[in-house]
Amino acid sequence: MVKTSRAAVVPKPNADLIIEEYEIPELEPGAALMKVARGGVCGTDVWLWQGKLAGVPYPLILGHEVVGTIESIGPRPIKDLDGNELKVGDRIGFHDVTQTCFSCYYCLIAKTPTKCPNRKVYGITMDSTKFPRLIGGYSEYLYLSPGTHIMKLPDHVSFDGASAVGCAMPTAVHTVLRSPMRWGLNVAIQGSGPVGLMIAVLSIVNGASTVTVLDKARNRLDIARKFGVTHTLNIGETTLEERKETLREITGGHGPDIVYEATGSPQAIPEGIELVRDGGSYTICGQYTDHGLVEINPHLMNKKHLDIKTVWGSETMHVYTGIKTIADNFERFPFESLVTHRFSLDDAQKALEAQEKQVSLKAVIQPHGD
Ligand SMILES: [Zn+2]
Ligand SMILES: [Zn+2]
Repeated sequence: MVKTSRAAVVPKPNADLIIEEYEIPELEPGAALMKVARGGVCGTDVWLWQGKLAGVPYPLILGHEVVGTIESIGPRPIKDLDGNELKVGDRIGFHDVTQTCFSCYYCLIAKTPTKCPNRKVYGITMDSTKFPRLIGGYSEYLYLSPGTHIMKLPDHVSFDGASAVGCAMPTAVHTVLRSPMRWGLNVAIQGSGPVGLMIAVLSIVNGASTVTVLDKARNRLDIARKFGVTHTLNIGETTLEERKETLREITGGHGPDIVYEATGSPQAIPEGIELVRDGGSYTICGQYTDHGLVEINPHLMNKKHLDIKTVWGSETMHVYTGIKTIADNFERFPFESLVTHRFSLDDAQKALEAQEKQVSLKAVIQPHGD
């Protein structure tokens, strides 16, 4: 039995990560211990490290995109979301939201559980001084609390493949489900990071007629093409008028039926409103952290008769559907190629810096090396 686990801890906002060793607590009924194979480094981790998300407690073990194997199970059997009993050695992923209360206004009346004020999220909302301490993926072991929604990874889905898509896939699933996606539509996606790419995957799987990805990084657009998008547009090498013209040409003169925003940049929003066709749909999911104000012309939104939606967080069904989509299409898309950088636990600080400078498309921490 393992007794302790090393973890990379953010002691306070903007401070360098430190490696600490924690005792592994005795497992409660319904709990399990996970041996972490990959702790995905998410863009959000950088904002958490820098203290840019309000209400987050420190010290904090980052890492909400985690896959690994079950090391041990507490005194009560646990099941996956299909109702199958889980065993030691099973390869798993889980929904990073470990708890929504199912008794508040947002859970019960508004039916918007991602806005539940009592949500607990691994690697984000729990500080590492309190039981069970091991609550983030930048760690050798992670304590899966009772009630955590666990999914078994099919044998043909590698740890790299599953962690490559991280929380990007559930976000993409939620985003696409908020839009009027169906076969035959013309889709444009602002941003070719992991979220934009997963929206592209879902657009292709759904039978979109054209899928155009816009970004300023050439290497990211190259990857989008490898995923099979029909067109790419480099926003650093074209003007807005040229992009609008190209999109009109691709779509029979109208512009895209659906535009998705997955950039993290406020400047993308006025452009998205320009790009979408009259009567089209614009869905925004890339503004998870606050990057300030931007000028928008409401008249244009009104005149174009747009459906505009935004997306916050993900529910368990989005994670479940995301893993199923990856499993069903593992040969069709090069998911594993998204992992561009690997770091040991001791180099977790460097992983964050690589993510911050966007050197990596997807960085992962491999606490056990393999
Ligand atoms: Zn994330
Ligand atoms: Zn609630």
